[in-house]
Amino acid sequence: MLSFYPGPSQVYPQVRQFLVEAYHSGILSANHRSSAFETLLQNTLTLLKKRLAIPADYAVFLVSSATECWEIIAQSLTPQKSLHLYQGEFGKKWCDYAAKIVPSVQGVGITKNFTFTSNILLPLTQQPDVVCCTHNETSNGTYLHADFVQPLHQLVKTCSPTTLLAFDATSSMAGLQLPFEQGDIWFASVQKCFGLPAGLAVLVCSPRTLQKAQLIADRKYYNSLLFIAENFANNQTTHTPNVLGIWLLNKILDILPPVAHTAQHLQQRADNFYAIMQAKGYKTLVSPLPSLGCLLSPTVLAFAANPDQLAALKTKTQQEGINIGNGYGKWKDNSFRIANFPALSDKDFKKLETVV
Ligand SMILES: *Cc1c(COP(=O)(O)O)cnc(C)c1O
Repeated sequence: MLSFYPGPSQVYPQVRQFLVEAYHSGILSANHRSSAFETLLQNTLTLLKKRLAIPADYAVFLVSSATECWEIIAQSLTPQKSLHLYQGEFGKKWCDYAAKIVPSVQGVGITKNFTFTSNILLPLTQQPDVVCCTHNETSNGTYLHADFVQPLHQLVKTCSPTTLLAFDATSSMAGLQLPFEQGDIWFASVQKCFGLPAGLAVLVCSPRTLQKAQLIADRKYYNSLLFIAENFANNQTTHTPNVLGIWLLNKILDILPPVAHTAQHLQQRADNFYAIMQAKGYKTLVSPLPSLGCLLSPTVLAFAANPDQLAALKTKTQQEGINIGNGYGKWKDNSFRIANFPALSDKDFKKLETVV
């Protein structure tokens, strides 16, 4: 089966060989405080920085999921309040999740009435510790272009300088070139654009983030950010990590081109696919908001369809050995999603185009 599901998604074909190599290398039985593991981890972090163009002064950590990153941000960086600007189901879920941990949580929908004014940051009582955004909304196929990220970054910098800006980039990291400098925290799990099996996530933090973590001094949890940072400073982890996942990440990064190259390719393929679908009479699930910089995603393409259309489309694609992605959350029964992830080839897309 060829999978266009946006997570877990089609893994790179090279994963098969990498698994065999991992077995024979002995790394799977090595102690995680051994120099063999430390070298693997150090090498992987170096490659991540290089391939994804992460600023030199930002720290990179590996944890187990994007959901864990939501938890780490809530526990270790949000003593009082988080503000969530969301444009879909994952952003809302993050907000609901944070509300169980953080004393005060505010959610604001990014709709056509949304404006960047200082009062989104300064309502009544207190400024937020963290502003939380979903860089690429996997549920409805929208993403926050630099035209959104830049003014938000400016607003935070001028109106609330101690506030951190966090982005869930689970379905865009390793596919798009992220504007790291304009955010403090960026994270993604590897089962989307990285084209790898689930169970590992990349967490990128600015120097300000680690300074703020020191001030807050949370040391209550096994995954408190300070414990993670202290262990990673020695190329170690807080607990026995997903060594196989780290090995696969290392091997795939080694053969990937720089992300700018990948991003350009994906954008062209997305533009082409959107045009083909439009010509076939499909509508995108939601309308982009270009004036705000909330645009159609180049990595997750979501289309509207009624339940009858959906059933017919699924039967047709499955007969051809293709899995398309179901709708998500409130759009479960009236949409389908197509992952435009780097592990899928142009040939895979050609095949899909003839079937949909
Ligand atoms: C898939 C996804 C998640 C959840 O990832 P896990 O690794 O399962 O925790 C969170 N946010 C977004 C935007 C996603 O696409």
